[in-house]
Amino acid sequence: MTDKPKNHHSIVIVGGGTAGICVAARLLLADPTLDVAIVEPSTTHYYQPLWTLVGGGQFSREITARPEADYIPPGATWIRDHVEGFVPERDAVMLRGGGELHYDQLVVCAGIQLDWRAIEGLTGALGSHGICSNYSYDTVAYTWECISTLRGGRALFTAPGKAIKCGGAPQKIMWLAEENLRKRGIRGAVEVSCAFAGPRIFGVAKYRRTLEKLVVEREIVTRFEHDLIAVDAEHKRATFRRPDGQTVELDYEMLHVTPPQSAPDFIKHSPIADREGWVEVDKYTTQHIRFPNVFSLGDCSSLPCSKTGAAVRKQAPVTVTNLLAFRAKRALEARYDGYSSCPLVTGVGQVVLAEFDYDGEPCESFPFDQAQPRYSMYLLKAYALPEIYWNGMLRGRM
Ligand code: FAD
Repeated sequence: MTDKPKNHHSIVIVGGGTAGICVAARLLLADPTLDVAIVEPSTTHYYQPLWTLVGGGQFSREITARPEADYIPPGATWIRDHVEGFVPERDAVMLRGGGELHYDQLVVCAGIQLDWRAIEGLTGALGSHGICSNYSYDTVAYTWECISTLRGGRALFTAPGKAIKCGGAPQKIMWLAEENLRKRGIRGAVEVSCAFAGPRIFGVAKYRRTLEKLVVEREIVTRFEHDLIAVDAEHKRATFRRPDGQTVELDYEMLHVTPPQSAPDFIKHSPIADREGWVEVDKYTTQHIRFPNVFSLGDCSSLPCSKTGAAVRKQAPVTVTNLLAFRAKRALEARYDGYSSCPLVTGVGQVVLAEFDYDGEPCESFPFDQAQPRYSMYLLKAYALPEIYWNGMLRGRM
């Protein structure tokens, strides 16, 4: 429609990542006449779940990146800019490039912020000195370099205590590294250790039991309640804070860092945030608690589930159904049950497919015990899910 003011769209979506594209595509499939705008600064769209297997040497990072333009659904307007603020009282978002954008309904899905700077000494050293991370496209290839060239010493894998995207990713790369060292015949020369801020290896008991057995079988040294706070890259020493406030130093030869994460600052400091900074939505409908024409899903939302793309797959249809109901002045009846999934890669060709809901109850898709590592689930993770993502989810199907 050309008769509308240029800075107004019926539905504005902030963020064109997993959730943003998925929601836009579904909206336009439901009603191709809808005026949908996506504000997304990046020209590249990443399939982040495969970064685990890139860091583990199974794929090149390039296959995880595709042009964003190829996934903006036909009929949507792409605004290549950053949103910098929200004025929900006036149905407006502020753009970094200047000016405001107005909406009838807003969907916020700008992902999670990686707080690398919260770890002293890390930013200048990441990507060198044996310090790597699967959490960024820029550093993921270096993870494999670190693993494949490691000859001895300690391989340390960290995880922060608060919410992160893909809670299983910090350990998946540890299992892959351990297997690689074993296959190269140098496992005896390397201590493989997780140093996690949390109290245990995985939250859901059914899958935790399998992982705890593997820890013993594969002689992993576990250090829980160890929160990484500083890195001395030159001396290859990492400092952790314990719950009693004491600090512990550990030497390493390779350090895989999972950075602390939080809601993006421009959301955190805005009226749509809850106390912790997430977009404050109803956990079942994904509608904002205070601003009914605002919805949010994905990593930046307050939905108290495990933050994954798999969760987005279930949240997106709920958001779209409820948003369309809101536009039609009908009751919001679609409900999200907290479903999330984590394909726990325990080796090349081995995946424990964890699937669970808000209550941490397993809700599995397959008629077999998913707590067992399986080759079939690895094939799903490595080959089927990327296809489902690019050709199904992002096209508004699945
Ligand atoms: P994103 O997909 O991150 O998209 C957010 C978008 O917002 C980005 O495109 C960004 O450019 C944009 N944005 C940011 N700031 C602004 C702004 N100011 N204005 C406008 N736009 C902005 N999930 C799984 O389901 N299974 C897995 O096995 C799995 N493994 C993972 C392994 C790793 C190493 C990582 C890093 C992630 C993994 N995930 C996994 C998690 C999954 O990728 C995320 O949960 C998912 O992408 C979240 O979708 P989102 O749309 O909320 O955020």
